[in-house]
Amino acid sequence: MVRYAAEDALVGAHLLLALSTQLWEGQSGTTPSCYPLYSALPQPPLLPLLLPLPLWHSHLATLLHHTCLPYIDRRFKNSTKQICNSFSDRAGASSVVDKNVGGESVRLKDGKERVAATRRSHPLLKSPLYDNCQLLAPDGSPLCTCDTKKAEWYIARGLGKEISRDPLVVQLTFEPKGRPEPGPGDDMYYVQERENLCVVCGAEEGLARKSIVPHEYRRYFPAILKEHASHDLLLLCPPCHQAANLYDVSLRQNLTKECQAILRHCSQSRMNIDSTLMSVRSAARALIKSRAKLPSKRIQELEEVVQYHYDSLTEATLQAAAALEVRVINEDHVPHGFAVVTMYQRQGGLVSLEHRWRSHFLATSRPRYLPKDWSPSHRHHKLHALAASLPPGHLDHTVYSALLTGSDISHNNTATSL
Ligand SMILES: [Zn+2]
Repeated sequence: MVRYAAEDALVGAHLLLALSTQLWEGQSGTTPSCYPLYSALPQPPLLPLLLPLPLWHSHLATLLHHTCLPYIDRRFKNSTKQICNSFSDRAGASSVVDKNVGGESVRLKDGKERVAATRRSHPLLKSPLYDNCQLLAPDGSPLCTCDTKKAEWYIARGLGKEISRDPLVVQLTFEPKGRPEPGPGDDMYYVQERENLCVVCGAEEGLARKSIVPHEYRRYFPAILKEHASHDLLLLCPPCHQAANLYDVSLRQNLTKECQAILRHCSQSRMNIDSTLMSVRSAARALIKSRAKLPSKRIQELEEVVQYHYDSLTEATLQAAAALEVRVINEDHVPHGFAVVTMYQRQGGLVSLEHRWRSHFLATSRPRYLPKDWSPSHRHHKLHALAASLPPGHLDHTVYSALLTGSDISHNNTATSL
């Protein structure tokens, strides 16, 4: 087992060496667009940089990181030819990952090559996400931007009139429920035009939505926290998306550990292994595969295991034992997202969880093209104001406690405010 694991690790080291060699020899193909320092260089990216050693190390680390990113979570292909093609072609048309922004090259029997649909969890947008149509109040003051479909919905129902076609500007014929408060802040965030580019590196092609607060937590949020969802839905290019998802793993792991400390009775595992069934299956498989090599005493022990489970030992019971399903549903399973949300509802408040994910994105991905007024504490001061405006004894106090401080009163005394 140790040797197997060690050889597995060595494969990764060999791959890194091969990719590094290509960088030295200038076969790296296209330079990631998120790496502007190199994108302007016509020469191999490592050689012409006469930089101080610490800076050069930093550039090398970043370049290697981006070089490896396209290979993360790639499906294993047991085809030497395909693997060789993939490596040798990287400088040309089959720099598949870069050129097709996540597509996967497949060679057909007739020799033609096609690009298979990507299996990414974040589908690329086929059209720009932001149409930047403008909605105006009846007095002409800006309300928000929206997509073309929504703007035309107002026109079709006589709820708005078209002021301009390109860009599409629609003036509402009724007074909306609320108006954005003027000046910098949460409300004006939705009035500004949004650019269709990667908020991390500025790339304009192959964009996909990234949920800054992952859906596995948001799905358990109360409705009031799900409003204005577009703030936490940003556009990222595939390399930045992959990198951000990797960074997210570490925060998710930390949250799992914190949950285990507080919600000890909850289990994170959806399925359990039944150890009794496992021993019966192992015994049967050993008998079927290796009976001739086993000492007679061991054969007898294994046969007793199967016989005890089935009350008989026949070829049929042996085959049935070898095919046993050993996984059983864990009745105590609690989804990770639910456990984390429950923990924050009790301690700290859900806005802390929201703040934590947004801050995590800022700290790890270091986006350079965020929309103006994007903030980790977006709408939090408004929620505090709404809670403060409730009369004493109002039923919604419980909801706002879970949102803002957590419902665990003993913990609230030590909780830090945002
Ligand atoms: Zn990017």
